Amino acid sequence: MSSSKNIVIIPGDGIGTEITAAALQVAQAAAAQSGSSFTYETKQAGGAAIDEYGIPLPAETIEACRKADGVLLGAVGGPQWDHVAPELRAEKAILGLRKELGLYANLRPIKVFPALAGQSPLKAEIVSAVNILIVRELNGGIYYGARQEASVVNGVEQACDSEMYSRPEVERIVRLACRAAIGRKGRVTSVDKANVLATSRLWRKVAAEIAQDFSEVELSHMYVDNCAMQLVLNPGNFDVIVTSNLFGDILSDEAAVLSGSIGLLPSASLGDGTGLYEPIHGSAPDIAGQGLANPLGTILSAAMLFRYSLSNTQAAIMIEQAVEQVLNDGYRTADIFQPGFTKVSTEEMGRQVIARL
Ligand code: ATP
Ligand code: MG
Repeated sequence: MSSSKNIVIIPGDGIGTEITAAALQVAQAAAAQSGSSFTYETKQAGGAAIDEYGIPLPAETIEACRKADGVLLGAVGGPQWDHVAPELRAEKAILGLRKELGLYANLRPIKVFPALAGQSPLKAEIVSAVNILIVRELNGGIYYGARQEASVVNGVEQACDSEMYSRPEVERIVRLACRAAIGRKGRVTSVDKANVLATSRLWRKVAAEIAQDFSEVELSHMYVDNCAMQLVLNPGNFDVIVTSNLFGDILSDEAAVLSGSIGLLPSASLGDGTGLYEPIHGSAPDIAGQGLANPLGTILSAAMLFRYSLSNTQAAIMIEQAVEQVLNDGYRTADIFQPGFTKVSTEEMGRQVIARL
């Protein structure tokens, strides 16, 4: 990896500042350990940007993100900005960034760490094998289809949403899922509702065609209702799941609970340019500024940044193994603490990860 890589850090609001600080230190240490380095600049978005610039996503932030190799984001939003006009809401920063950066794929790896398997709502023996990557289409589908708000027609109130997918939209997301499966178990499950929906029938046909280009990938199809059930019954059987915007939204939240804590899970949003990396949780205003937040979801997001945007797989693996080791060694932030383990602050958790790189 060349040393000319540059990333943008957006701490955001609430616990965002603490968790991105911890993740940045881990990332710098991992880069150094793998014989590389990167430069970074810090930019504002969300409530912090509303306070400083009057808008949630300043042009300066967008510009810096466009030029960067990757963006690491903490979390945005909080009750102090809830009164602002809808178009100025802190959460608009994320939607705006997705749009500006053309991010069409959301990747959510769901891994259950053996040391925490007992904290999953499912039995430890069912979840300890869980290592799933959900690839959700982010730019199309029913989220962007025509909408007819509720109105009274012939005396009955009705509303309508429509879903559309085009061949190129399906092709690029399935291709991305197949590429991501290489280096994993090489299995892709395409999830749809092809027995009912026309968009799903196109999705299924195109997915099968694209998978032909990947000899090392085995593609199978599954209906979304069955997938929802299998995620609870046999989650260890999945490798990569690729699905539409709406199904992906629902399934990724379902799968996230398997891990036991929202603070542990990373995500990546990818397009053809800069990738955006963030933990799946929000700004957690209830625990902000107290060193209570679990930084591991953000630290694992930094690992994804190395893998998908900085072409440094070695640093990614190093971070992921160090996180697993820290948990095996008994270190716990408050959200995953149980008697008998070592309780640590946000900062200390970061230091313990660095010590194991
Ligand atoms: P969003 O901002 O997406 O609407 P939310 O407000 O629904 O999210 P979060 O901000 O994610 O929810 O917080 C939900 C709960 O999980 C809170 O009680 C919060 O303290 C806790 N939580 C979230 N992230 C973490 C973390 N990294 N470490 C510990 N606890 C967390
Ligand atoms: Mg929130």
